[in-house]
Amino acid sequence: MDLLNTLVDKGLRRELPTREEALAVLATSDDDLLDVVAAAGKVRRQWFGRRVKLNYLVNLKSGLCPEDCSYCSQRLGSTAGILKYTWLKPDEASQAAAAGLAGGAKRVCLVASGRGPTDRDVDRVSDTIKAIKDQNEGVEVCACLGLLSDGQAERLREAGADAYNHNLNTSEGTYADITTTHTYADRVDTVQKAHAAGLSACSGLIAGMGESDEDLVDVVYALRELDPDSVPVNFLIPFEGTPLAKEWNLTPQRCLRILAMVRFVCPDVEVRIAGGREVHLRSMQPLALHLANSIFLGDYLTSEGQAGKADLEMIADAGFEVEGADQVTLPEHRAAAAGGGCGSHESAGCESPESAGCGGHQSAGCGSHEGGGVCGTAAAAPVSTEPRTDLVAVRRRGAGTDLAPNA
Ligand code: SF4
Repeated sequence: MDLLNTLVDKGLRRELPTREEALAVLATSDDDLLDVVAAAGKVRRQWFGRRVKLNYLVNLKSGLCPEDCSYCSQRLGSTAGILKYTWLKPDEASQAAAAGLAGGAKRVCLVASGRGPTDRDVDRVSDTIKAIKDQNEGVEVCACLGLLSDGQAERLREAGADAYNHNLNTSEGTYADITTTHTYADRVDTVQKAHAAGLSACSGLIAGMGESDEDLVDVVYALRELDPDSVPVNFLIPFEGTPLAKEWNLTPQRCLRILAMVRFVCPDVEVRIAGGREVHLRSMQPLALHLANSIFLGDYLTSEGQAGKADLEMIADAGFEVEGADQVTLPEHRAAAAGGGCGSHESAGCESPESAGCGGHQSAGCGSHEGGGVCGTAAAAPVSTEPRTDLVAVRRRGAGTDLAPNA
């Protein structure tokens, strides 16, 4: 297939596909899906081999957010029955992190709900970062605290943070439909602040919020422009009690096409499957490992993931290997260019949790509109998007509870 051959060649050369080529990936038919996965898998293996990086979320502060991100179970007015608690103490966060690291994770993602941190919050998180780094040699720490004010990224970097996550989530054109309390430009600004402070930037998207294929391509091209080191791809978890509760738009096949498109547009970047993996990819999760080189281990911010042991078994059964703490995530050309963002930088990264809330956290869902046909052309594939509310489980263990975490 000419389209896929072209995309593989471009991916191996780190050359940007055209928008038409990216759109054509989203429009492929289910008959062509394995060919799409195989092609994007070649690009994935060129830059990341068969390694899978495991990341572990610690929700430092859950719920009670004054922002109105409509995908988020922690938003203002959410009636989702999620855990609500204020800041974990550094030793509590460190204990939660240790469980994830013992389970095989090499990065800990510290997330807090809210518009953005106060300077006192940055102090708190700095203490937490130090506690985690003191107790866990070699761990990578990513902070995800929402919109940053001047100087805060530098302070987090000084405290030992390796990375900062803040997702763009959706296209500039549709951002105001999703959130009214801050802007797309605010989000871009925070990613740029993280970059400028020498933090590895992590910024991604949420699919499944009712956006068009063009919106998805727009946000992924905007991310490539921002050049983060890691791009988390969330698939919307339509939480009851949030405005997007009825947005069950995704199929496993759609999710795979989205991940393939992201891989072709950001070939040498850590592509991470974030929230919604179990809910939307379901039994197709192993195929997604041929596209993404990174996942979250265990639970998400406000929802439960599959057992950590099942994650490890899936990786082994699919013929992949968990990336060790002594292995560098990013390709040499990126790792050598530390301090940059996506196209450069070192081996840090950052994610984008899922149903959490803050600045960018949440849990995302998965696209909608389908498309069909074969590469480039395509005819609509059948859509089976029965709500799978049975697969959405509010997190009731780990951070903020007395129960052991899933790791
Ligand atoms: S995504 Fe973040 S900022 Fe938006 S409502 Fe959720 S916690 Fe608040």
